Amino acid sequence: MKYKRILLKLSGEALMGDNQYGIDPKRLAEYAAEIKKVHELGVEVAIVIGGGNIFRGVSGASNGMDRVQGDYMGMLATVINGMALQGALEDIGLLTRLQTALKIEAIAEPYIKRRAVRHLEKNRIVIFGAGTGNPYFTTDTAAVLRGVEINADVILKGTRVDGVYTADPEKDPSAVKFETITFSDVLQKNLNVMDTTAFTLSHENKLPIVVFDMNKEDNLLKVCKGESIGTTVY
Ligand code: UDP
Repeated sequence: MKYKRILLKLSGEALMGDNQYGIDPKRLAEYAAEIKKVHELGVEVAIVIGGGNIFRGVSGASNGMDRVQGDYMGMLATVINGMALQGALEDIGLLTRLQTALKIEAIAEPYIKRRAVRHLEKNRIVIFGAGTGNPYFTTDTAAVLRGVEINADVILKGTRVDGVYTADPEKDPSAVKFETITFSDVLQKNLNVMDTTAFTLSHENKLPIVVFDMNKEDNLLKVCKGESIGTTVY
């Protein structure tokens, strides 16, 4: 396997499946099955999950809500998603731990880096909930932060697009996909891979990011095996 320890970032929206809101149990089960495939082959898996399918602080603020209040609600949304994913992984026999950046000790461990690493070494899948624990950040930033902290080999950003393109492929049919691209080229060409904070953190710590389509069967497995799926930013 190309990667020994991965930090998989899943967006909250991906969990909606074909619905407009919430969590689609079918999609959840599919993701759990994909994760099992790589875990079985010895890859240590840590996961950060978003909350956009339930709540986003920015949308709350645009409707007159206090931004910070909204962001904490968004962080709690990621915990709900994390619990759902944890359940789906356990349903297929995987051992998991949920660690949260905000303390909710009745349902999850508080985030402790050393403990997280120990869980990974013991073959448990670790899900990090509540983002970074701070308002004004995103779960992409949480993913890179945790990835750097636990010494992940790579950030795997599973999305519905299959990589980084010269332009938005949903708007511009002439857009071309990059197989690989350097951090500097992403900046120079003004491409959108992750928000600036997340991107800078990854760049500064030389932690590569693979953007790939998580909704295609076996794609996660192929990425972990080193096949050229998606776009690698390095
Ligand atoms: N959030 C936050 N701090 C963090 C991570 C997330 O305040 O460190 C809040 C923020 O309001 C965000 C929401 O949680 O809109 C859901 O996370 P995100 O939008 O990153 O989820 P995704 O787009 O991946 O579903």
